[in-house]
Amino acid sequence: MAPPRGEGTIAHMPPLADTVRRNLESVESRIAGAATKAGRDPSDITLVGVAKYVDAAATAALVEAGCSVIGESRPQQLWSKAEAPELAGKPIEWRLIGHLQRNKIDRTLPIAREIQSVDSERLLRAIDASAAKQGLTARVLLEANCSGDAEKHGFSSEELKRLLPELPMLKSVEVCGLMTMAAREGGPTVARQNFAALRELRDTLRAEAPPGLTLDELSMGMSGDFEEAILEGATSVRVGSALWSRIE
Ligand SMILES: *Cc1c(COP(=O)(O)O)cnc(C)c1O
Repeated sequence: MAPPRGEGTIAHMPPLADTVRRNLESVESRIAGAATKAGRDPSDITLVGVAKYVDAAATAALVEAGCSVIGESRPQQLWSKAEAPELAGKPIEWRLIGHLQRNKIDRTLPIAREIQSVDSERLLRAIDASAAKQGLTARVLLEANCSGDAEKHGFSSEELKRLLPELPMLKSVEVCGLMTMAAREGGPTVARQNFAALRELRDTLRAEAPPGLTLDELSMGMSGDFEEAILEGATSVRVGSALWSRIE
């Protein structure tokens, strides 16, 4: 085995940039494969590269490899990355994919073009108010709890049906669709059932929706189950660990 190259570097490990590039190619080709299998155009599926595990320099490696839509699950991490010199001037579209506290909305909206994880009516109304105050329109997805896991955030289908007629009243928020997390247990088979449930819920809501509300976006699927999600109609997949893995 070769000796270490220098402080903090182990010579037999390829540089992070190479690993990330290879991982990204692999994820993109799996996305294309699943899309083809589903009879869909791969370009209709957005890969959200989830960077919550890594620092700004590693995030920059992912962007340089060609992934420009970056998801963070914690608002503070989003803010600090958005200001990091490593990422300055890069063509990044940020997505918030984790829980947003109401006192963090004002600072988050100008950075994240889309909040994928709106999990309560109170939060939705607060985002509308903040966006109006800042002269912005916020794109949001409503997080649905399709797995029945009690510890998961998100609306029930009954809550979403009740909320639907209210949505056109929110003038500074564009509700683009739904997001979900699959059950923690059960693997890809159960995940696929959860994803099918989200699509069916979206179809039901769409049939009852006020004019102009198309709910086109379905954000579902992570490293362990994004192919199942694409088969069930995902328009965004949120992939983290498969992009950062050093052994793939
Ligand atoms: C962390 C996270 C992901 C990515 O999960 P991986 O299994 O690492 O791909 C996707 N969505 C949300 C909401 C997350 O918090």
